[in-house]
Parts: sequence; structure tokens; C-alpha cells
Amino acid sequence: MRQSRLFTKTLKEAPSDEQAKNAQLLIRAGYIHKEMAGVYQLLPLGLKVVEKIKQIVREEMNNVSGQEMLATTLQRKDLWERTSRWSDEVVDVWFKSELKAGGEVGFGWSHEEPLANMMINHISSYKDLPTMIYQFQNKLRNELRAKSGIMRGREFLMKDMYSFAETEEQHEEMYEASKVAYTNVFNRLGIGGDTFVTFAAGGAFTEFSHEFQTVCEAGEDITYINREKGIAINEEVLAKTDLSELGVTQEELVETKTAEVGNIFNFGRQKGEEVGLFFKNDAGEKVPVWMGSYGIGITRVMGVVVEKFADDKGIVWPESIAPFKVHLVALNTDDDEIRDWSDGVYTALQKLGVEVLYDDREARPGEKFADSDLIGIPYRVVVSKKSKEAGTFEVVTRANGEVRNLTEEELYEDFVE
Ligand code: ATP
Ligand code: MG
Repeated sequence: MRQSRLFTKTLKEAPSDEQAKNAQLLIRAGYIHKEMAGVYQLLPLGLKVVEKIKQIVREEMNNVSGQEMLATTLQRKDLWERTSRWSDEVVDVWFKSELKAGGEVGFGWSHEEPLANMMINHISSYKDLPTMIYQFQNKLRNELRAKSGIMRGREFLMKDMYSFAETEEQHEEMYEASKVAYTNVFNRLGIGGDTFVTFAAGGAFTEFSHEFQTVCEAGEDITYINREKGIAINEEVLAKTDLSELGVTQEELVETKTAEVGNIFNFGRQKGEEVGLFFKNDAGEKVPVWMGSYGIGITRVMGVVVEKFADDKGIVWPESIAPFKVHLVALNTDDDEIRDWSDGVYTALQKLGVEVLYDDREARPGEKFADSDLIGIPYRVVVSKKSKEAGTFEVVTRANGEVRNLTEEELYEDFVE
């Protein structure tokens, strides 16, 4: 991508009404556009990051036999009435609307009810189980406070997965496999070391559900963590549970600000029973399906990564989700010889399959470097008169500022996957 053609421009300042660091940086660097509080458009750079996060999540969900689909945003009132979750007193984030033709619809804040209902068409026997479906979908939630940038949106992208099982044992197997898949996801996203499987208040039939909480100053949650034991507990569980049951004492736990990046939940047979999702077991009896639900906040994760790794100069992306791997910054572009040479390096890197953002703009070096730091691509390669004379390129690693001088040949070797 040639930066001269990128329609987004970097900004010196974020909008004055934006308080969250993640959104301030993402807006200034041209990843997102603020439409209104809690609602952000994804610009080309932002979409690239989101697609990379999605692909990592997709691979791990496919690994546990999840099948991807895409559900609708408009939802039926009667389905949510079946489970007593249509009322605003029960679910306080509903957006609802009236149909001109009469009747009401809801805008999907979650999809357990519609997808459980849909599965009535596909599950009739124990032979149809187990099965898991998932999607990446924009959720709409009428959140009271939207002050954490893309970490709390009123419209945001979630990966939601639903498991359907014959027995508790079969359910548990999928639940545990998903836990491992989630751990893999957060490792690959670069936040594994700071993300804890956290005991949270229970599902319908289990004592606990599990949240994935990432240590983050800007997070809205408080988690009690013991790193050595790898134990983490949320506030509700701390208040209600005998800690000895979890093998830890209160003194061993450190109160920590965290952001919930994922959540896994067991509905037992309750949801199946309420929605009417039954199957015939091997004894020929009609019984409700065991259900679980598994969420990951895709755009929230993006915000958490920005919050955690940014420095005073701007964003620092982990390589796995950076919009590009290399930021090729050309200086002295008014010199035809230098311009031709840097165009050649750009073409060569592209041919090698390296994702490159090429700053071919006519701008001052200081401005180019400041923009490059703000955008946060992992490696900056500088092409200039000086580098032409020296026969080497300066390669700067964004995360730690490490500077290497590589010949053209070394550069290509270094960046080939
Ligand atoms: P929270 O307590 O933060 O409101 P939640 O319990 O409502 O989260 P779930 O309904 O379990 O969240 O949604 C699954 C995942 O979606 C969460 O773990 C989180 O990562 C993400 N998420 C939830 N609400 C939002 C939001 N308003 N904006 C962005 N991501 C969200
Ligand atoms: Mg919520």
C-alpha cells in the first residue's frame, strides 16, 4: 500500500470528547473514525487489524470443530419471551424497534436464543450431537456508559460460539477444549502472559463460569490474581465463595485492574428446555440439549492491545495483528535516483510476500518518523540518500527501538516468511 494513496490522514489531536487512550491513538493514526460515543467506523488500517484478529480466532475455533456461520441482527421478540429475556428489566442493553407492518423486533446483543431455536431444525437425535457453531457479528448494546473507546462499544464486533451437547460429559469436553482454544488465541494475540482464566459467577448448572481477564489499567473490571498459582477470581466470586475451595487465600491475591476479553458459560439444559431444543437420546427419550456459549470481544481486544503496548510516541502492534509487517519510509524522494531505488525495494518486498506500507509521500523526515511511530508497524525500513551511499538500510524495531543496518540482500532474507 502506498501511503500517498491512503485516504486516511494522521491527526495531531484526537477529538476533544474522546477520553480513552485506545480510541485517541486509533483515531489519530487513522485506524478508526468516531461516529458517536461508543460507535466507531473501521477505516482501512483498522479493518486490516480486525481481520487479522478474526483470522487467529477463526483458526482456533475451527480447530475445536466450530462451524462458522452468520446470523441476522434483527431478532424475534417471541424467542426472547420464551426465556424471559425480552424485558428491559432483565436485559438492560436492548435496542428495540417497531415494525411498520406491526410488531416489535430486537437488535442482537447476543444470539443464544435465535441460534438455539434455529438448531431445532438441525438437531433431532443424539447422532446430531455434539456440534458447535460460531460467527463474527456486530452486536448492538445500549450501554449506559461508553467511555472506554473501542473497549466498550454500543456497536462492536464479537465472536460468539455456541455448543450443543448430548450429555454433561460431552458438554464438559467442548467447554474444556474451548478454554484451551481461547488460551491459544490470547497467546497468539500477544497478551497471553497477562490474560487469566478467571472464576466468575456460575452458569445455570455449574458453580462457576469463566472469564478471560487481561491485566489492563484502562479495564473496567477488578480481578484478584495470584500469578504463581495461575489463579484469578472476579469480585463476585471473591465475595461469595469459600476461597479454600479454590486453593488460595485472600492474602495471596493481588487486586488488579483488568479488561474482560472473553467469557465462556454453561447453560446446562435450561436454555434447551426453555427454547424447546430437544433431541432423542439413545434410550429413545426426548431430552433438552446441553448448551454453552463462548464470546470474545474482537474490537475490545484490539483496544486492549493498544492500551497495553502503546508508548508515548504511539501504537505498538504485536507482529501477529499489525496491519503491515514493514513500514518502508523513503526520505529524499525529490531525488529521482532515490525514488526509483525505494520504489524498487517496495516492489521487491511485495514480490517476496511481505506486507508493506510504503511512505512515498513528499514530507519532512521528522513528520514521516512521527507518523510511523504513531501507526506502530513492527519494522521501519528507511531508504534515503545516506543509506544509498552507505549501501545499507536502517531497520528499526518499533517495540524496543533496536536499530540494525542491513544490506539489500540481508533485508530481503530477513523479511521472507
Ligand atoms: P462486560 O461485563 O464488559 O459488559 P459482558 O459480560 O456483557 O461484558 P458478554 O455478554 O459475555 O460480555 O460478551 C462477550 C464478550 O464481548 C466479552 O467478554 C467482551 O470481551 C465483549 N464485550 C461485551 N460487551 C462489549 C462492549 N460493549 N463493547 C465491546 N466489547 C464488548
Ligand atoms: Mg455487559
